Amino acid sequence: MHSIESLIRSVADYPKLGVTFRDITPLLADAEAFQAAIAAMAAPWTGQSIDQVAGLEARGFIFGVALAQQLKAGFVPLRKPGKLPPPVRALDYDLEYGSDRLEVREDALTPGSRVLLVDDVLATGGTLAAGRCLLESVGASVIGASVLMELDALGGRQRWAAGSDIHALLHY
Ligand code: IMP
Repeated sequence: MHSIESLIRSVADYPKLGVTFRDITPLLADAEAFQAAIAAMAAPWTGQSIDQVAGLEARGFIFGVALAQQLKAGFVPLRKPGKLPPPVRALDYDLEYGSDRLEVREDALTPGSRVLLVDDVLATGGTLAAGRCLLESVGASVIGASVLMELDALGGRQRWAAGSDIHALLHY
């Protein structure tokens, strides 16, 4: 089996000069390695009574759905604006340049439901922090976050509020 790390392709100067993009699509295309990655991402959360996995659009959907199946949890998509029919709860958040918005179906979660937030990459941490805030605004209890990889130098983990943990399978 190819190692999980060997199937992450690093692309220099994409999508802009000076940025190294970590491409996960070779991993997704490898049946054994993809399955191994999902099993390893699920392991720390097994037995923690997770009601729903919430995935961040778009690559968080891929890992989120697979983890939800593995953890026998439901799946809730956190979407970019204008994709979900009403009623939705929205949250605007700042990016390095500009801002963005996340939306969730307002009645997707019952108050107090135990939710694991999932994305592919933790970079500056803004996306995961916004996802957590949005989930909490509809009454969820965010028990943690799971990402395939963390870009350690960007310090995104520091933006994650205390009280729950982030698990990253790979570190760059
Ligand atoms: P953050 O909000 O700065 O932590 O960025 C995380 C978001 O940007 C995630 O939703 C990722 O999908 C995306 N992202 C950032 N860097 C990369 C990368 O190198 N490869 C793939 N996605 C990335």
